[in-house]
Amino acid sequence: MKVLKFGGTSVGSAERIKHVADLVCRSKGDIVVLSAMSGTTNTLVEISEYLYKGNVPGAQETLNALSAKYAGVVSELLSGEEARLAASEAVERSLSTIRYYFDKEFGEDAEKEILAQGELISTALMHALLTERGVRAVMLPALDYMRTGEGGEPDMAYIASGLRRLLELSPGADVYITQGYICRNNSGKTDNLRRGGSDYTASIAGAVIDAEEIQIWTDIDGMHNNDPRYVENTRPVSELHFEEAAELAYFGAKILHPACVLPAKLHNIPVRLLNTMEPEAPGTLIYNTRPDGTIKAVAAKDGITAIKIKSGRMLLAYGFLHKVFETFENHRTSIDMIATSEVGVTLSIDDDSRLAAIVDDLKRFGTVTVDRDMVIICIVGDLEWHNTGFEGRVLAALGDIPVRMISYGGSNYNISVLVRAEDKIEALRRLSKNLFE
Ligand code: ADP
Ligand code: ASP
Ligand code: MG
Repeated sequence: MKVLKFGGTSVGSAERIKHVADLVCRSKGDIVVLSAMSGTTNTLVEISEYLYKGNVPGAQETLNALSAKYAGVVSELLSGEEARLAASEAVERSLSTIRYYFDKEFGEDAEKEILAQGELISTALMHALLTERGVRAVMLPALDYMRTGEGGEPDMAYIASGLRRLLELSPGADVYITQGYICRNNSGKTDNLRRGGSDYTASIAGAVIDAEEIQIWTDIDGMHNNDPRYVENTRPVSELHFEEAAELAYFGAKILHPACVLPAKLHNIPVRLLNTMEPEAPGTLIYNTRPDGTIKAVAAKDGITAIKIKSGRMLLAYGFLHKVFETFENHRTSIDMIATSEVGVTLSIDDDSRLAAIVDDLKRFGTVTVDRDMVIICIVGDLEWHNTGFEGRVLAALGDIPVRMISYGGSNYNISVLVRAEDKIEALRRLSKNLFE
């Protein structure tokens, strides 16, 4: 059994949904995870923003446009009365769930309920289409098995038993359909796995059923060696180690949700990145590859803040770093990069919601300075320390771009450098030119 996930663009129109329906019938009994149609989750976020601000007419107008869009999709997608009725009813159920909150006190729970509707609709549309085509398609409602535990992490034991039970209830289907992204939290309320989370759904589902392979179908032919949104002439990487893929996803390669690699890696399930528009292209295979002595790819993570703590007391003292780290832990803020010297330490964070309080606390230990609007550029590949020359090539490529921080040796797979946001695109381009051309 395989798990196939199709992202928003892959199901972005009636025509694309039909194309995905062709692809999922190529082998029998797979689980298909779908995102919302592209644009829908953003529209749902917009509706929530209107409701937070108490602007009901704004929400109404946005919902009307969404309603018109789906009426068009239903009529283009399906031809039979029965299928159209089933799909229209599902769409209307979701729209009225959203409408329900127009005259209620609005908060996070309501927002999450609204955000869940995109995936509920896209899967209902796919189900109606496959059923109309005579395919035995079975829905596995994500809200019935996908659940996070107390710390907000997926409750793998619950998910495993829930998903297996649902599969046992409907053996022998041609295809199983489930919603990406959405889940329940440990109080049983509707929640989600954060933006882009359908990839995570696919790898969690793949892990708990011990799938033969997890396929992430998207709008590009695999993981490219640099960010195609900013750099020209990028090329797909044919193979990546789980660790390399995890670093790239975490450090900004949007093609994969940052958490998606871990469940697959733990269960040693290969992940294949494939292009819906070009199904025969080889894409990228992520598994336990052997190190091959090359640099594979570069990615960038935006929105980084660097915090420097300088202290004479650090000189020859122990316990200083412990106090610094504890401060971040107390504020539940995770650290991305670290650089130390005998008189100071600089750390980088991506979540600056607690920055003022963190800086305030750190002032007890030394002089604190903050650099905002920074970007981590992450260079990934076989960077085991005996492989010489890569550090030099990376720094030479950056040339006169000011580097705030460098991290190397933390893993065998990465060198990270911190630069100003305004230098990001130039840094990415220079790295491509020097490392891959
Ligand atoms: P989906 O909606 O299918 O989940 P996403 O938009 O989340 O798709 O991810 C695919 C996009 O990721 C590509 O269109 C591309 O612009 C972007 N991207 C960023 N970095 C990379 C990379 N290194 N390789 C491939 N795609 C990347
Ligand atoms: N629909 C959600 C989003 O746009 C989840 C996903 O597409 O992976 O973020
Ligand atoms: Mg995505």
